[in-house]
Amino acid sequence: MKLSIIGSGYVGTTVAACFAELGHDVVNVDIDEDIVRSINAGNAPIHEPGLDELVETHAGDRLRATTDYEAVLDTDATFLALPTPSNEDGSIDLGAMKAAAASLGETLAAKDDYHLVVTKSTVVPTTTAEVIGPRIEEASGKTVGDDFDIAMNPEFLREGTAVEDFLGPDKIVLGASTERAFDCLDEIFAPLVERAGNPPVVKTGTSEAEMIKYANNAFLASKISLANDLANICKEFGVDSTEVLDAIGLDSRIGSSFLGAGLGWGGSCFPKDTAAIIAAARSRGYEPRVLQAAVDVNDEQPTRMLDLLADRFDPDGKRVAVLGLSFKPGTDDIRESRAIPLIQNLVEAGADVVGYDPVATENMREHFPDIDYASSAADALVDADAALVATDWDEFAALDSEFDEMRERVVIDGRRIVTRRDGLDYESLV
Ligand code: NAD
Repeated sequence: MKLSIIGSGYVGTTVAACFAELGHDVVNVDIDEDIVRSINAGNAPIHEPGLDELVETHAGDRLRATTDYEAVLDTDATFLALPTPSNEDGSIDLGAMKAAAASLGETLAAKDDYHLVVTKSTVVPTTTAEVIGPRIEEASGKTVGDDFDIAMNPEFLREGTAVEDFLGPDKIVLGASTERAFDCLDEIFAPLVERAGNPPVVKTGTSEAEMIKYANNAFLASKISLANDLANICKEFGVDSTEVLDAIGLDSRIGSSFLGAGLGWGGSCFPKDTAAIIAAARSRGYEPRVLQAAVDVNDEQPTRMLDLLADRFDPDGKRVAVLGLSFKPGTDDIRESRAIPLIQNLVEAGADVVGYDPVATENMREHFPDIDYASSAADALVDADAALVATDWDEFAALDSEFDEMRERVVIDGRRIVTRRDGLDYESLV
């Protein structure tokens, strides 16, 4: 089929390259000329394992990019993969979605045959039916359900394994309200279903599909927060939380994934998605207490870590190394990284902070230009009074004699990754 993907960031580029790999003709539409140039030159505009190879293979053949919405006219269906960030109050900012829907609508005014518009972005329930559809109708003069259909297909890929996740999904969720839309979606997804070995395909309404994405992320974020809550209780009793969590994870009703305790969750999705669904619930008069508690526990983990440091000394004037700056290992993404509140609080307390990360240093430098950055964990530890471990990069497990270069050998481990050794004043957060 011929597909257009509007928005070519993490999701849009991955989806486009993977659909091309699956045999569709795909065009990426993005307002960013650098991204368009990069894709047409055969280079992925973002870092994702396997993505460069796919873009290089298909660019100029089954994959191209453009800033011109007119490209949509030659396609059967359009996926909207625009950013949906948070407003200051946590509610969803639909600015990019609305702008893209209006541009798409203006373009579709000139289209004679049927078209399917699919929301790929994470949006709060009813957005596709009550915001996207009407905007396209208004700009195109066409009627939803008649001249074109709308659908919702949430994306569950994770940064760091985006290609692998897209091509091997646990489930595919298709939300629509007409048979014609489902037929079109079936045709689009048939090659993926076949390649992925027939994963479950959930067919539902557009609002249900929108909510499934939030429920999925809310559940995973809450699972981690519950693991942290339990681990915090364990610590009060001197109980080894890892042994407890590993054991409960053996129960098939619980499962072991997303059950690790530590400094909490960050990244570009969990914080904004939990905030958006909480704000959406409140806008309808419902207070989501469990989800709010999950956010609160997550927000408090960095404070608990700083309290462990304060038990040793006042950080004012002390040199403190923060090891790990990205929100999780394997990425240079620092959005909502737990290292940010740690550094912010240390700087405000008068500490002399030195940060280290194997790949995320430049991104954190933009956020905190005035702290020091080391080129290795070993360098960060030289003359440090304390080290706070914020991300579980494998290399931190191998640190050993490097700790001898510290002034005071206080190590507070937010991820239980450092190997304990004699001579360290070591404490793990959980
Ligand atoms: P992103 O910021 O990486 O990319 C968005 C792209 O949209 C950018 O390239 C931007 O230039 C482009 N854009 C903005 N306005 C535009 C317009 N009017 N017309 C054309 N292009 C425009 O965002 P992302 O991480 O790919 O996320 C997209 C959506 O997918 C979000 O709703 C997000 O919540 C959801 N999602 C993200 C992930 C993830 O891991 N990143 C996973 C699942 C779902």
